[in-house]
Amino acid sequence: MKTTLSVLLLLLFAIPAQSQEFTPEMTEKWSPVPEKVTPGLMGTPPSDAIVLFDGTDLSSWESPRGGSAGWTVSDGAMTVKAGTGGIRTRQAFGDVQLHIEWRTPAEVMGDGQGRGNSGVFFHEMYEVQVLDSYESITYPNGQAGSIYKQHIPLVNVTRGPGEWQTYDIIFQSPVFAEDGDVVRPAIVTVLHNGVLIQNHVELSGPTEYIGIPDYSAHGKGAIMLQDHGNPVSYHNVWVREL
Ligand code: MG
Repeated sequence: MKTTLSVLLLLLFAIPAQSQEFTPEMTEKWSPVPEKVTPGLMGTPPSDAIVLFDGTDLSSWESPRGGSAGWTVSDGAMTVKAGTGGIRTRQAFGDVQLHIEWRTPAEVMGDGQGRGNSGVFFHEMYEVQVLDSYESITYPNGQAGSIYKQHIPLVNVTRGPGEWQTYDIIFQSPVFAEDGDVVRPAIVTVLHNGVLIQNHVELSGPTEYIGIPDYSAHGKGAIMLQDHGNPVSYHNVWVREL
């Protein structure tokens, strides 16, 4: 009985709202007007991007060990020089959209995790795996496009050895409370060669080689590219801060 009364009352109040005259204009939203951005043409960055590597030099990068980045630049690409360590951006970032193109060696050497291994690390600790996963077997949560040891890519859209491939990554940094608690974990979306392979997945912490991930609070951080001992190349690298 009480329920029926509530429903009747609700209807009484709802009817005037429903009978209100709606016009198309009432649901048009005229602000804010999105800022104008000129899209890149054929593999070039959009007008509001921060270019991290345009094929000429490593001025946006440094060695995490200190000093300048030790990788090789030739033919418009930068290539891992084994043993020099990874390279990281001089600038620190929070939430970003990153475009990066990569190429594993044309000459196939090694197998599994030893074949064309590198990686894109946000905050130097959250890895989107770079690997030659073209007809090559490894654990799927460690193949190309995996969030290393946390998320298997939805599909394997890897091109063959020696071919250029793209990653478009939207990385949302974790949010921490003042006491260090995780308010919201890191969230990542990845398109590999234009195909969605990670759809808004949550990270359970830094991508660990051994053991269980566990967050520690941090602020902005560098984007790092991994030296895993294989001569993987990169070019056309740009980022947009979100
Ligand atoms: Mg790696």
